[in-house]
Amino acid sequence: MGLTVNDISKIYHLDLVDLIEEAHRVHRVSFKHNEIQASSLVSIKTGGCSENCTYCSQSAHHQTSVERHSLLSQDEVVAAARRCKEEGSTRLCMGAAWSRVRDGDDFEHVLKLISAVQSEGLEVCCSLGMLSLSQAVRLKEAGLHYYNHNIDTSEDYYPKVVQTRSYQDRLETIGNVREAGLRLCTGGILGLGESDEDRIKLIYQLASFVPQPESVTINTLVPIPGTPLENSTPFDALDVVRVAATLRITNPKSMIRLSAGRLGMSSEAQFLCFYVGANSIFLGDKLLTSPNPSSQSDHSMLKRGGFKLSESSIS
Ligand code: SF4
Repeated sequence: MGLTVNDISKIYHLDLVDLIEEAHRVHRVSFKHNEIQASSLVSIKTGGCSENCTYCSQSAHHQTSVERHSLLSQDEVVAAARRCKEEGSTRLCMGAAWSRVRDGDDFEHVLKLISAVQSEGLEVCCSLGMLSLSQAVRLKEAGLHYYNHNIDTSEDYYPKVVQTRSYQDRLETIGNVREAGLRLCTGGILGLGESDEDRIKLIYQLASFVPQPESVTINTLVPIPGTPLENSTPFDALDVVRVAATLRITNPKSMIRLSAGRLGMSSEAQFLCFYVGANSIFLGDKLLTSPNPSSQSDHSMLKRGGFKLSESSIS
């Protein structure tokens, strides 16, 4: 029988020192504790999205300084893939600011991009919005390894974060991803104004998928001028450690990817996240449109912590 919300609440509310110790113990059962997978994220289509996610710089509902651009060419994406390999990444995630994937020329182009990136020897993940089962099957046939579709927060809090689609829409796409045989990457964002209870319910949802996601993202809000959340209260880095540790215990075999928002965390806080089980970061000074630490400073941080870069997580 799976974990209940109450079980997860008990783990989440352990004294931090005990939570950290238990998460580290669980982490070592399935992973090498000193290995971190480096990934890269490229925005293949930027801005002008019809959804109104309150945290997002790319929503057409908000007045932000993000410059829109249409789909990148295959040459541009292959060049980006080669750059990320040189920086030490074994995985490339391509994000497109779409509400949903539409059949047609753009989708056909994305299928070619997936094949091209896979030919470069990289693990490939895409985040393209909602998609149908037939589209998920075609992505899989093109060589896609993972599909990213974040659930962001708890089902209860979701309507405060996005009003143009429902939590159920997210779960439906995740169902299509699974039915097509793709690996699932999903996760949430901390700092949206959610309560501990919302975080616990988010973790409950992530732990309840059958099978559990192979990849879980932990993002922290990067407040973007022009979005409804531009003046949000900065998050507490120890809360991120608490969430990462709880996720490690409840999703013991998932890769846990410390994603957007690392610029707002000290090296020490990130080290604690790695210690409790986060085992992937994105390299590169930009994450889609958000700032990210430079590759140089990340390599230095990992070296100082005694971590080395791992190979691809797919076999
Ligand atoms: S669906 Fe994605 S790109 Fe569109 S507004 Fe939401 S987070 Fe931004």
